[in-house]
Amino acid sequence: MSIQFYNTISREKEAFHSINAGKVRMYTCGPTVYDFAHIGNYRTFIFEDLLRRYLEYRGYDVTQVMNVTDVDDNTIKRSRERGISLTALTNEYKSAFFADLKTLNMQAAHHYPEATNYIDQMIVMIEALEQKGFAYKAADGSVYFNIEKYGHYGKLAHLNPEEMIVGNRVVEDNYEKEGARDFALWKGYKSEDGDVQWDSPWGKGRPGWHIECSVMSTELLGNHFDIHCGGVDNIFPHHENELAQSVCSTGEDFVNYWLHSEYLLVDNKKMSKSLNNFYTLRDLLNQGYPADAIRWMLITTHYRQKLNFSVARLDEAQKAVNRLREFTSKLAEYEGLGSNAATEQIATARKQFASAMDDDLNISGGLGAIFELVRWGNRAMDQTELSTSGAQALLELMSSFDHVLAVLKMDSGLMREVDDKFIESKLAERVKARADRNFAASDAIRDELAALGVELIDTAEGTKWKQK
Ligand code: AMP
Ligand code: ZN
Repeated sequence: MSIQFYNTISREKEAFHSINAGKVRMYTCGPTVYDFAHIGNYRTFIFEDLLRRYLEYRGYDVTQVMNVTDVDDNTIKRSRERGISLTALTNEYKSAFFADLKTLNMQAAHHYPEATNYIDQMIVMIEALEQKGFAYKAADGSVYFNIEKYGHYGKLAHLNPEEMIVGNRVVEDNYEKEGARDFALWKGYKSEDGDVQWDSPWGKGRPGWHIECSVMSTELLGNHFDIHCGGVDNIFPHHENELAQSVCSTGEDFVNYWLHSEYLLVDNKKMSKSLNNFYTLRDLLNQGYPADAIRWMLITTHYRQKLNFSVARLDEAQKAVNRLREFTSKLAEYEGLGSNAATEQIATARKQFASAMDDDLNISGGLGAIFELVRWGNRAMDQTELSTSGAQALLELMSSFDHVLAVLKMDSGLMREVDDKFIESKLAERVKARADRNFAASDAIRDELAALGVELIDTAEGTKWKQK
């Protein structure tokens, strides 16, 4: 059976076929870097990590793009509140985000485009929309997308025609489905924007949030690609508008499969900045909850089900991870004289795991297959029924499952003491990474230290550091 994904646009599970055989191109809407991401945001990012890892497990070569929203209504507002430049604000939270991704053991995306590096391409896309009659400049100096011109507007979010207010406009990035109107592609300059402005054929201004993702996705993945993801709150208006802009500007299809993950809740309400009911990753680490338990808690509820955050769930999660680790340690040390090579059990577990996960990432079914194997393996070791080669084969299977789950070798992420010795050891690692020309590793060390409040200064005499 092929992989099936629930496609938001059709509201049905569909067989997954990639555009190019064996290759998947996926775009995942990334963070808006005006504050620390909360673990609700990480639920969505970890779902995307799980999706990519599972596609890789099934043999696909995946290219993932995750954008960084470094200019929008929120980032500008916050930089002004804090009295710092937009770049100073966004750099701070970009570093924190990349450090968190590592702590949560997410695979790095292949590209992390930043919106402010794609302004020229955004202008080109808006010009194309204008030329094709989908965009118009209004008296406020902004350029809007005319939703009435595009006959399929509302197809993704399944809008009722009554929900569309034709001939009316919205300049804000976020608004309700009931208020679907012409939306801003380019926002004419306002004094609240401070020094955040670019020249354009329509005068000074800045891009709308939605055009950013249409441009960064098509620039890096091509006009038509396989998968686009985000949280359910991205369906409207963000993805609806992205779809309209992309299809109307390129004249081609945009995305084949739209996948959206459900909310992480607190006391049955969406975890969000605006409700002030959120936990950041560092809040939880500082309270002593390890990153592996957090990752496990976030991946083990099906992505289309709401998940209520609770500390009790983290304790349960830790127990489950420990069980898997104890099993693999026991396998690694096992030297039994049994004759059972576990061939049948391995084949069954592999088959059951894949058939569950193929069904729209049915994680409970997948974990059911793994824990069934753990129960059997523990019994077979206790009764010295298992052969040594069987233990090795089981270990290899666990390691291939762990390509998907990515918890077995994970660090707890709990705050190490940031003493001079720790910093010096990290600096030495960075010197080595740079000597090996592994700049990704060297940047990751800089980010890790930045997240711990340590700033590095490269000088002619080598790297110096200071506590921020
Ligand atoms: P933002 O940084 O606000 O653009 O959000 C980044 C991602 O987190 C988006 O894909 C949102 O849909 C997602 N998101 C925001 N809040 C939650 C939540 N409580 N649970 C799950 N995903 C969320
Ligand atoms: Zn986006």
